[in-house]
Amino acid sequence: MSEQPTRNAAQLTLVAPRRAKPQRHLADLTMAERRAAVAELGEKPFRADQLSRHYFAKLTASPDQMTDLPGETRERLVSQLMPSLLTSVREITCDGGMTRKTLWKLFDGSLVESVLMRYSDRVTMCVSSQAGCGMNCPFCATGQAGLTRNMSTAEIVEQVVAGARALAAGEVPGGPARVSNIVFMGMGEPMANYKAVIGAVHRLVDPSPEGLGISARGVTVSTVGLVPAIEKLAGEGLPVTLAVSLHAPDDELRDTLVPINTRWKVAEVLGAAWDYAARTKRRVSIEYALIKDINDQEWRADLLGRLLKGKLAHVNLIPLNPTPGSKWTASRPEDERAFVRRLESHGVAVTVRDTRGREIDGACGQLAAASPEA
Ligand code: SAH
Repeated sequence: MSEQPTRNAAQLTLVAPRRAKPQRHLADLTMAERRAAVAELGEKPFRADQLSRHYFAKLTASPDQMTDLPGETRERLVSQLMPSLLTSVREITCDGGMTRKTLWKLFDGSLVESVLMRYSDRVTMCVSSQAGCGMNCPFCATGQAGLTRNMSTAEIVEQVVAGARALAAGEVPGGPARVSNIVFMGMGEPMANYKAVIGAVHRLVDPSPEGLGISARGVTVSTVGLVPAIEKLAGEGLPVTLAVSLHAPDDELRDTLVPINTRWKVAEVLGAAWDYAARTKRRVSIEYALIKDINDQEWRADLLGRLLKGKLAHVNLIPLNPTPGSKWTASRPEDERAFVRRLESHGVAVTVRDTRGREIDGACGQLAAASPEA
């Protein structure tokens, strides 16, 4: 244990630094707020419905295509309510184009990444919720640079809209398609940017053209375990899947792997997770990155199995993805198999996550948003 960095709650950044905010965007607003915003700009409220249809249904923010609005009105409404918030800096693809990672620059130069993964039966987008991350987990590349700032609701949504556009335009091999699943597993701790993330979830799941009309069942919010936020999420009436990044069943190890554990312990985090499952009837996903000789012992699998036995949960094992400067590596295949068997012997459902995007540093824990020059 001695070679592990010591971290404590004091080094964690739960509250993002105050910075200039991105310009207001249609996607930040509820339908009622959009109508009010349009009225403030001296236009009839129904223009908000038209704009919403262009943005959320037709996926366009280009005035030329809004032929149902008078020319001058379009230009003004688009400049006021549909500013361009993300600029693509770099796009890398692998798996014959079925996986693509985009590096985005935000208005203030902050960099974030999103990943689109097309499978035979679905398209999953992994989105960022903060520029950087304040949670400081030592095995995650994002955590190493610290937290720059919270993203706005619209900045989060724009990542998905950009992916949806690329899919609709047939830019991703396999013919035109839609985004079916969203995972808040990109950069950042979504529950530390609660309000903007809830707003984004609404825009994703609200029926078109109010939102994108993606099924809430296809949305997963992943957290290190910010207990008060999990409790709040359970009361939102949004049946999204909760994923908890557990990574260790015991406080001693989890304190070092997920430093926020020094604030909210394993038992508290799991307690909040079971409440979430009971209230939403949604199975909770327990994320566990298997790290060679650190958390992959059979006794830990047993301990985890006992904690999860009979609960509405399933374990997602993630073979550790390499990150710069980390001395840790993925578990041996035989240890991974033994870990799976032990968990299954307790009747716990287990899957091993694929390592999509690993070769483009787009897999779990690899999003660091290095600029092209870096
Ligand atoms: N902050 C949230 C959202 C990020 S999700 C959270 O931690 O849940 C990213 C997932 O990938 C988390 O489960 C995280 O712990 C995991 N992860 C981070 N670094 C990883 C790595 N190097 N290999 C595999 N998984 C990693």
